[in-house]
Amino acid sequence: MKRTGRTIDRIAAAVLLAGIASLHSTCEARAESPAGENEVLEAAEKVTPTVEEIAQQLWDLAEVSLLEIKSSAYLKDVLTRNGFAITSEKTAGVPTAFIAEYGKGEPKLGILLEYDALPGLGNEPVPERQPRKDGVTSGHGCGHNLIGAGAMGAALAIKNLMVANDVPGTLRVYGAAAEESEGAKVFMAREGAFDDLDAMLHWHPMDVAHVSKVRLAATTHMYVEFKGKAAHAGLYPWKGRSALDAVEILLHSVNMMREHVEPTARIHYIITDGGKAPNIVPDRAVVMLTYRDADRERVNAGIAWIKDMVEGAGLATQTEGLAIDYFGMHDLLPNTPLADRMHKHFKTVGLPEYTTEENAFATELQNASGLEPTGMAAQVGPIPDEPRLGGFTDVGDVSYITPTMGVTVPSMPQGIPLHSWMATACHGHSIGFKAAVTASKVLTLTGIDLLTDAELLEQVKADFDERTEGFTYESPIPDTIKEPSGLPDEMRRYGTRAQLKATILNNTGDHGLAPHSHGTGAPHTH
Ligand SMILES: [Zn+2]
Ligand SMILES: [Zn+2]
Repeated sequence: MKRTGRTIDRIAAAVLLAGIASLHSTCEARAESPAGENEVLEAAEKVTPTVEEIAQQLWDLAEVSLLEIKSSAYLKDVLTRNGFAITSEKTAGVPTAFIAEYGKGEPKLGILLEYDALPGLGNEPVPERQPRKDGVTSGHGCGHNLIGAGAMGAALAIKNLMVANDVPGTLRVYGAAAEESEGAKVFMAREGAFDDLDAMLHWHPMDVAHVSKVRLAATTHMYVEFKGKAAHAGLYPWKGRSALDAVEILLHSVNMMREHVEPTARIHYIITDGGKAPNIVPDRAVVMLTYRDADRERVNAGIAWIKDMVEGAGLATQTEGLAIDYFGMHDLLPNTPLADRMHKHFKTVGLPEYTTEENAFATELQNASGLEPTGMAAQVGPIPDEPRLGGFTDVGDVSYITPTMGVTVPSMPQGIPLHSWMATACHGHSIGFKAAVTASKVLTLTGIDLLTDAELLEQVKADFDERTEGFTYESPIPDTIKEPSGLPDEMRRYGTRAQLKATILNNTGDHGLAPHSHGTGAPHTH
């Protein structure tokens, strides 16, 4: 789908002006009992036990991407018990995604929850490698249990403040499932779920403290499969055609391509199927490839080039290639006034104080990882000057639709990497829980400002409009992909994976290769 940036801007401007007009009068009316900084911090402090409970629950569940069934049900339950209405479930084709809402009218503020874990990273919350005693092998190595908990804390505190102070507006909570695989936010963005928002807040656990005024990469995930002919590799290899040969030619081409793309490009791949035995000519070979660059335009150009290579490799080896760019994301667009305000609040909240036990945990973990035992980050860093980083997030797509800003809060000792068992250990420990509580406070302070400070919202919107001038949001997900490709058949609503494969093979349009090229197998994300 396509939306015209200018039209959206005009509508948004009209809505915003109306909102500002009503806000000005509201601010005057509220002058007798304004929610001061202390009251806001108190409200945020009050939800601390709930934040800790959610962090623990989600950590215990440790459900991986697309399968966060109990986690999403649990979060929906917390929201309903606290006066939110669930306005959407199985949102945008993602079974574990949802939307909840409190309040009505303008302005409209969004908060992003995440809750998926990673496979194989399960660990007890101890500073050494120790698999979980209950046998759960997955773990919150990216700390999305803390994101769910901290963002939920902010949602609850903001809602309580809205009730206590008659703050007008809509608070919308997004159950943004599957961040680690095919992020629900991109599917939601395609359905227009963020179109009417005035701003969006998010956060991520890390080993450092700063507002997320950074640029992350635009990304496309690609599935490539070649179909050849099997034959005895010794008796009559001439009867066979090797799908693995095609993969080798493709990947050699990709590696030669590296010299001729800009330094911002990152291309990485794995071969998930390269044949079954050396004495059989492989009749099937599969590559999963990720292409990243500074923006979607560059990623799209790179992907088109690689599709040509797939076709070339097929011609060279008399095999047939199938290439599907099944999922993608936009780069992350920062917002200056929002980053400035969030930074101010982050400084006010400050970093947690740690107990002797927590500090010992931190240095032991660093020692176990061969790092200097420097402990936890001690202060909130300066506002980053929008450096371009190679990571990606599905928050990127949200950030091109509505003004978006977040913070990273130390949940692990300095130098400990995300996506590791060490990270899982921290995120099930009070060190991690304190990060969620801190984030909840920063998001609450910023969220209340966005609902009540019309001048701030105006500046935020102006910055967004300037950065997106002439921009039209186009989903990086092909139209044929109605739900995440990695969903198991029993959870699919739009046909099995085999049916999806058939649809893609019959579709000679934008995705896959030219009409004559085809292969076997459905796209997947393993
Ligand atoms: Zn992650
Ligand atoms: Zn993450």
